[in-house]
Order: sequence, then C-alpha cells, then structure tokens
Amino acid sequence: MQNTAIHGANRDALWLPFTAHRQFRQAPRVLISAKGMYYKDAQGQDVLDGCAGLWCVNAGHTRTPIVEAIQREAAKLDFAPTFQMAHPLAFEAAGRISALTPPGLDHIFFCNSGSEAADTALKIAIAYHRANGRAERSKIVGRERGYHGVGLGGLSVGGISSNRKQFGPLLADAAHLPHTYDPSRNAFSRGLPKFGAEYADALEKLFITHDPSTIAAVMVEPMSGSAGVLLPPVGYLKRLREICDKHGILLIFDEVITGFGRLGASFAAEKYQVRPDIMTMAKGLTNGAIPMGAVAVKDTIFTGFMQGPEAGIELPHGYTYSAHPVACAAAIATLNVYRDERLFERAAALAPYFEDAAHSLKDAPHVIDIRNEGLVAGIEIAPGDGEVSRIYKVFDTAFRQGVLLRCSGNTLSIAPPLIIEKNEIDRIFETIRRILITTS
Ligand code: PMP
Repeated sequence: MQNTAIHGANRDALWLPFTAHRQFRQAPRVLISAKGMYYKDAQGQDVLDGCAGLWCVNAGHTRTPIVEAIQREAAKLDFAPTFQMAHPLAFEAAGRISALTPPGLDHIFFCNSGSEAADTALKIAIAYHRANGRAERSKIVGRERGYHGVGLGGLSVGGISSNRKQFGPLLADAAHLPHTYDPSRNAFSRGLPKFGAEYADALEKLFITHDPSTIAAVMVEPMSGSAGVLLPPVGYLKRLREICDKHGILLIFDEVITGFGRLGASFAAEKYQVRPDIMTMAKGLTNGAIPMGAVAVKDTIFTGFMQGPEAGIELPHGYTYSAHPVACAAAIATLNVYRDERLFERAAALAPYFEDAAHSLKDAPHVIDIRNEGLVAGIEIAPGDGEVSRIYKVFDTAFRQGVLLRCSGNTLSIAPPLIIEKNEIDRIFETIRRILITTS
C-alpha cells in the first residue's frame, strides 16, 4: 500500500523524536490502526504489540469504555481552564488516583506527560523546602542511567549520557548516584537482583561533597525502564528511604513506567513497600489514549504549601492543559477498566509464565543478560560491530515479522499490554529467538 501522506511531499515535514531520521525514511515503520493486542501497519500487517506502544497501553488498544468516555467528554466539555477554576471530572480523577496511590500520597497535581511530571515534582520539592524556611535545600540527586523525560529538570537529574550530551551544562544543582546494574553478581536474575542494596549507601558518600542540608530530594525510577529494565537490588529502595529520612531529604519515585500494573501491582511503591514522598505518573494513567501526567504528594507537602495569605497563589506552576477534561475522562475510564478486569492481578498471575518465557532465551545467540519483573523483561544483547547495531536489526526484523519491541542501548525491552495471552507471550520470545539465530 503506497500512502502519499508518508511518501509524498509531507515526508520531510515530520521530524520524529528519538529517531535516526535518515535511516527511518528509507524504510518507514508506519502504524495505521490498533485493536487489543495488535497494531495494523501501512502494509496491512498485524503487529503484535510487545511494548504496550511506548509502555503505556496497559489495557490494550482502543478499549471501548475509554474511547466512549473520550468521545462523550469531548462533545460535552472540550476544554476548561484549571487556573482559578475547575470541573467535576478533575476532582473525580484526582480522587480516583489518590485511592490507588499508596496511603498518604493523596494530593494530585495534573500535567500532560512524564517529562512534565518530573519537572513538576522537582519544582514542588524545591518550593516545599522554601515554603518551610529551608531555602538552602535546592540540590537534586538523581542516578546514573536514570530517565526522567526530556525537560531541562528531568534531563539534569537523569543520567543517560546520549540524551544529555547535546544540551550543554544543564541545571547545575544536580548530582548523581551510581546505577545499580551489576552483571558480575546479578546476571540472569529472576525478579529483583540479590546483590547491591549497598549501592544506596552512595547517597551518604555524596554528603562529602554536598552537605545533606542542601539537598531537596532524591529522584529515582524504582525500576529504570528506558535505560534497559534495571531492577532495584533487594533492600536498595528501603535503604534509600532510610537515608533520606535520616537527613530530611524528600524521596521522589518516578513511576511513569512502573505505575498502573506493569510490575503486577498498582505501583512499584506498593509492590516493594517503600513509600516515597512524591510520585510521578503518566503513560498507563490514560492507557496512552490521551496525553496526561500527574504528581502525587504526601499530606505534609500539600499542607506545607497551604500557608500564608489565603489569596496568595501557593504554587505558581501549571499547564494550560492541566486536568484537561478529556484526559480526566480517559483516566477515569482507564482506571475503571483496570479495576473491573483486575488487570494488575492478571499481570501478577501471568508474571511467572512471562519470566520463564523470557529466560528461555538464556542460551540464544548474543544474549548476555536477561532481567524481568511483572510483565516487563529486558534482554541484553552483545553489541555487534556493523554500522547498524545488532539490536536495531533485531528490533526492525521483529517489526517486519509482526512483533513490536523496543530497543534502548543494548537492551530489547518487552512490556506488553496486561491483557496478553500465553500464546502471544510465546510468540514474542520465539520471534526474538528466531531472529537472534539469523542475525550476525
Ligand atoms: N519518566 C520515566 C521513568 C519515563 O520512562 C518516561 C518516558 N519513557 C518519562 C519520564 C517521560 O515521559 P514522557 O515521554 O511522557 O514525557
């Protein structure tokens, strides 16, 4: 099927994000429609969605209740400002989210993406300390290989060099903890790696350079997704929590990927029983159907802002589309689907099968590590020496064979919608094995 919108004059009108643009336009991968576990591409091929779009379509594609909720609200209230006013679904969505977040994280600030959520969380952390007479707490600590989106705040706290290198010095007040990836001790771990809780102690080492009373917050993804499915070693997050508590530092979990069932629980905070002070979310919040992000904060942070004259704006921050009515409708409908179909429990129940399927690739060519938890797996591939990376070849061939994967660095990521069936899990990993056997 020759599509003039793709191959005609518009071809160069579109500049794609995070894309090798010249390589892409030689053989574009173009998606036309989607239903359940499958996309349909421009060639008319069904493509099994092995990465929930971009880790967001947790309930599967074009789910009727979500589509209808979006349609209804778009026809009823297409837009409402939420600066100095609100609308009913904004309250309802906030209430529904706060019922799902761990107890105490009950106040929800809306934005439109994971990047905005990251920057919002960082600004809240810094402003909170200022509002409470601790203006010296302005530094933020992130982690090597961390990904918190592409805003200047999230990028500065993030730790992926290829994302940072073109953008100059970034924000000065960010320091980084080491990542926890330790294949010499933890290769082919199933679930959380056994070794490495002590990587959290690096926070105390940072205090040699940065006095703890100058640090506003530590921000980490409980599981790093974009940097290649890096799971926290057993005990690591608890240890971070303890050190933060000891020094009055806020702990921020970026749950943009780990939220909404990916690990077989509502959030990683719930699964690992470690409670952050601030939590970011996006992606699965609306099943990817409409952009939306959110930040949940604990009560003391919210009330910490509710001081001073009542007519004063407590937090001078927000977006035109914060709590957009259509996004709120999508979020509520999405949370209904998760609840009614018990999708987080389903993910937990399927996890052992998914784990076995992922680890069945242990002896496949080029595989040097496999990591998994819930319905997410990362397969680390030895880098090849051709101009086109081996992992890109695997990703591209899989797409041509009807399976959508994600590759970042040398990791193939698999994170399907939580509605996936066992035979579809088999197909994903069998396709990867077949391709690895024939890829140089
Ligand atoms: N934080 C994390 C942990 C993410 O994985 C992502 C996106 N993959 C983001 C933030 C940024 O989200 P967005 O692309 O919606 O801005």
